[in-house]
Amino acid sequence: MKSLAIYAADPERSQGRQQFEAPPEGRNEFQRDRDRIIHSTAFRRLEYKTQVFVNHEGDLFRTRLTHSLEVAQIGRGIARNLGLHEDLVEAIALAHDLGHTPFGHAGQDALNACMTEHGGFEHNLQSLRVVDVLEQRYAEFDGLNLSFEVREGILKHCSLQNARHLGAVGQRFLQQRQPSLEAQVANLADEIAYNNHDVDDGLRSGLITLSQLADVELFAHHLAEVRHRYPGLNERKLVHETVRRMINALVQDLSRQSSENIAAAHPASVDEVRANAPLIAFSSNMQRQQRELKGFLRTNLYRHYRVNRMSHKAQHIVRELFTVFDADPALMPDDFQLYAQSDKPRAVADYIAGMTDRYAIREYRRLFTVEEQPL
Ligand code: MG
Repeated sequence: MKSLAIYAADPERSQGRQQFEAPPEGRNEFQRDRDRIIHSTAFRRLEYKTQVFVNHEGDLFRTRLTHSLEVAQIGRGIARNLGLHEDLVEAIALAHDLGHTPFGHAGQDALNACMTEHGGFEHNLQSLRVVDVLEQRYAEFDGLNLSFEVREGILKHCSLQNARHLGAVGQRFLQQRQPSLEAQVANLADEIAYNNHDVDDGLRSGLITLSQLADVELFAHHLAEVRHRYPGLNERKLVHETVRRMINALVQDLSRQSSENIAAAHPASVDEVRANAPLIAFSSNMQRQQRELKGFLRTNLYRHYRVNRMSHKAQHIVRELFTVFDADPALMPDDFQLYAQSDKPRAVADYIAGMTDRYAIREYRRLFTVEEQPL
């Protein structure tokens, strides 16, 4: 590992955990956090939660688990290029999607609508809630008691109203400061990962085609290069060779531009990083190409009628589950019933948000179908 840059986060100078703990032996504070995240229940559930495609659609599509692993892998590479702390980037990347509802954004939109009168539902905030409160594993505290730097990175955005109730991690939204460079890297590694794997999954599913993508500069450029170099290559290999070049170009561009930004701002500490403008960024040319690709995916994949149908069904399931549990909390497991006595809507939202796609579908069947179903 390249030595840590002066502006990197340093586990020895962490702003600490909410509950004091003695320093770990044989690993640093960020490694300990990464290990706690991997051993959490919410992390295992990522395997059965989806991004765009519903989990049972096919075994080849990305799940939130494989997505999070890709984010960690891309993020670590960028961190290494820039002399940042890889373990911190990895911990943030592996935790960043823990708060997602079943059925991706459709599930979140439905749950947010159900919670309008009760503070809303936002997956970022929920990821923090999972690691701060909901995981129940340790004798001495609720949640995972993670370091400030990991929690700061997990809370990517947040409304000013919510920020006021979040203590130290909420402050930067009120003061308009940035998080560490490691958090900024994890955030953009997330973007690189999902734009590219959505192209790959979109093509595999047949919802988008190579000829449509020929109009998207970033893709078309690398596609032409691969075709020129390997005439007659079969489509699967053609797509993979193109996507891997796109990922590489994005990582190289981000590393180069960020390195220039850092050199120009020359922050001498993480605190100076926090006081600066965001320093991790693509070049303006690459930003434009990324935007074009995102726009393409939005129009042609995320709003494809077959995706709309999945989303419609997903929203229906989430809404119905919310209505039935809210009307009768006694239908939920004991611990959620207990919590419902103090905050019913939040208890229902936590219960639903923790479900995997297939669990939510089963719950729906168990509660609403009249044919014989196991309870
Ligand atoms: Mg993500």
